[in-house]
Amino acid sequence: MAQYLNVKQEYKDILLFYRMGDFYEMFLHDAEIAAEALGIALTHRGQIDGERVAMCGVPVHAADSYLAKLIKQGHKVAICEQSETPEAFKRRGGKGPLPRNVVRVVTPGTIQEDGLLDAYQNNFLAAVGRVADALAVAWADMSTGSFHVQSCRTAELESVLARLGPAEFIYPDDLHEKVSVLSLAEQSSRQPAALFDHNRARSLLLDYYGLATLDGLGRFSPQMLSAAGGLLRYLQKTQLEQMPYLTLLCAVMPQDFMVIDTATRKSLELTQTLSGERKGSLLYAIDETATAGGARLLHRRLSAPLTDKDQIEERLELANWFVRHSVLMDDISSLLREIPDIERALARLAAARGGPRDLASLSQGLAAARRLSLRLGTNLNNTADQQITQLCATAQNAAFLAEKITPALADELPASVKDGHFIARGYDSQLDDLRQMRDESRRLIAGLQARYCDDTQIASLKIKHNNVLGYHIDVRSLHGDKLMQNPLFIHRQTTAQSVRFTTTELSDMERQLSSAAERALALEIDLFSRLVDDVLAQKQLISQTAEAVADIDVALSTACLCVCRNYCCPQLGNDRQFAITAGRHPVVEKALAAGQPFIANDCHLTDGANLWLLTGPNMAGKSTYLRQNAQMAILAQAGVFVPASAAKIGIVDKIFSRVGASDDLARGQSTFMVEMVETAAILNQSTDRSLVILDEIGRGTATWDGLAIAWACLEYLHDEIGCRALFATHYHELTGLEEQLERLATHAMQVKEWKGDIVFLHQVAKGAVDRSYGVHVARLAGLPVQVTKRAGQLVKQFDNGHLQQAATLSSLPLFDRHLAAEQSTDDSEKNSRLTEMIDALEPDSMTPKQALSFLYDLKGCADEGKK
Ligand code: ATP
Repeated sequence: MAQYLNVKQEYKDILLFYRMGDFYEMFLHDAEIAAEALGIALTHRGQIDGERVAMCGVPVHAADSYLAKLIKQGHKVAICEQSETPEAFKRRGGKGPLPRNVVRVVTPGTIQEDGLLDAYQNNFLAAVGRVADALAVAWADMSTGSFHVQSCRTAELESVLARLGPAEFIYPDDLHEKVSVLSLAEQSSRQPAALFDHNRARSLLLDYYGLATLDGLGRFSPQMLSAAGGLLRYLQKTQLEQMPYLTLLCAVMPQDFMVIDTATRKSLELTQTLSGERKGSLLYAIDETATAGGARLLHRRLSAPLTDKDQIEERLELANWFVRHSVLMDDISSLLREIPDIERALARLAAARGGPRDLASLSQGLAAARRLSLRLGTNLNNTADQQITQLCATAQNAAFLAEKITPALADELPASVKDGHFIARGYDSQLDDLRQMRDESRRLIAGLQARYCDDTQIASLKIKHNNVLGYHIDVRSLHGDKLMQNPLFIHRQTTAQSVRFTTTELSDMERQLSSAAERALALEIDLFSRLVDDVLAQKQLISQTAEAVADIDVALSTACLCVCRNYCCPQLGNDRQFAITAGRHPVVEKALAAGQPFIANDCHLTDGANLWLLTGPNMAGKSTYLRQNAQMAILAQAGVFVPASAAKIGIVDKIFSRVGASDDLARGQSTFMVEMVETAAILNQSTDRSLVILDEIGRGTATWDGLAIAWACLEYLHDEIGCRALFATHYHELTGLEEQLERLATHAMQVKEWKGDIVFLHQVAKGAVDRSYGVHVARLAGLPVQVTKRAGQLVKQFDNGHLQQAATLSSLPLFDRHLAAEQSTDDSEKNSRLTEMIDALEPDSMTPKQALSFLYDLKGCADEGKK
């Protein structure tokens, strides 16, 4: 415990996985937290100051899955290993507990193991750097090696982080009060400001890359250096034994990306749904990639659409190449499926965390990448197809490594190098000799056992092995005496069932065997590290291969949308047009049951009519229409085809979407407050180049307040901002604004009334509707008939202007007003008759019989009309 407490001292806020043999144990408060988080048994062991020591543990071989659970719940875990084997420790005469030290701190942003990572998503660690008031964000994915940095204004920090969606981000502790968003985000952690010292950052970067100057990488502002330096220092703090491989730091320009804030990302469900799932998101609907690297690239692109027309067109052009060569699609797709995750295998090998299977993945991947590029190569015209020609060349640049690695590896591979048996027979003659010796010794031991059985006439004599005695001769107790008297056999142990011996011959043989096995394993590990060195010497080429494969994969996935799912290539412009012909919603279209068509709709925002006001019944498809247009702008600028028959989009600098109402109680904001905060962000930040989607603004408050706010917002968008905007509302009064606002056009979702019901046509047409048909939708939703009937009557009264009267009526109990009206006439007649009867009554002059018969009359009168 003294040793444990000493180590724990250094990692107070981090769970400590303390290696004890085949288990990682946790003690004291750590044990209580982990037992609850992992759902494992909490036990006790010994006492400190009279208090029992809580303890729990997880087996080392299954540690990854437990780690994953803890990391997902936001914990960090320090891994403390035994730094010597018990044998070596004993050999050098060590006393007390085995020496131990922390080899790594596992945090959400620094994981590399496949079991802990999502294959389809980058796992970014982000760091916010600061010099005076200037901020920058650096981000790296240790599992793939990418490393970037950009400056950003305080107001933009939130949207930059939303774009990256980091698994973890760190920031200097003196930034705390200034940027409230940081303390609110999950997975953020404050670090000492000294970590982000920009003066030290430069030399840190130079050391890490082994460079004399950073000039070759680009120009970095002091705040960029602070962010990148902070990130590297944090990696040093957590990775301790081995720094990961990161590509050369690359500066990114903030204006290169479309601004999309968190609320907009959420409402458009770009990469995950509102409930946090990938399935059902825009990304899921358009992802036809075949490799993990491709899926990650598409995820990055969709999260960060571009604003540079040329760069976007370059992506689209590559996809168009595949459309033009669609006969190749099936072949290329199956070749891509043969390529394992090269990037992550390389990152693990570089961080000395890789095993034989990573080496195999890498060599299979590189060989398959070459096959891919050869298949593509047969169709290339070097001058006309420059982009794809270049990618093909890059994709096979590192393939020579596969020829080196493949012959070295056995068919069946263990997860860890320590398990041995992964180098193929015939690859290294010295290893083959050692293996033969080891196998030979095993045969010799089997022969020895047969000889001892004969010599001693004990047929049940066995030569066995265990960790304490090693190889030994084992006989049942009844034969024990016989061997005790034989000077050849040296007694080792007596148990309840058997007596154990050794002989000089057996000991010699054991030494030979274990030394052959040990030497064979050591040689295998040495051969492995030589192969890893060969790989690491080419890490840049390998990274480039992985990038080229991902590029090809994403382009093919995009082409597939066109060839198989009727998407089209958007035309980008530097103007402000937004002209979608026959656009569809990618997710709703995919989700509709077979045979149920999605109704395509146009959207033509022009300079003369850049603001569309959309009315229509509930369930008519307003939100769907709004979102599909916003999503189309994002897809187009991400360089992906769009679900439409034609699309012309003037580059959008920022996109804002405010759809539906949601509480953020955790942040202490009511539904209406959230709505207003988001609307404020839109009105304050959008420019005339932005695209704004507003769905039912003002819904969360009293009718007149809501209408007034929606009205004022429309005027502001029209008069002050002049952006392209779609505005859906149930406030039909707003349609009158078309007369006053020159660039406002009203449109409506079409419905047909049929036999008292409505049919949703899901079609957008010019004009306005004056009804929301909410009661019809309520009926469809299964509200009790009494309620919908009553609501229907109220709507009629409201329409007739009887609002005041209706308000008092609505406080009456819930029942059909017509029935109620009829009933009330009947009731009053009955009441007056009853009153009359009672008034005429003279109780003193009645006989008991008359009184009884009167009671019956009263009852009869009261029951009248009930049947
Ligand atoms: P509310 O005013 O109640 O929020 P809404 O007008 O915004 O309703 P949506 O939520 O967009 O309506 O659409 C309701 C449903 O109608 C969708 O879930 C979808 O199933 C279907 N739908 C919408 N648009 C179309 C379309 N163009 N083609 C086919 N089905 C559609």
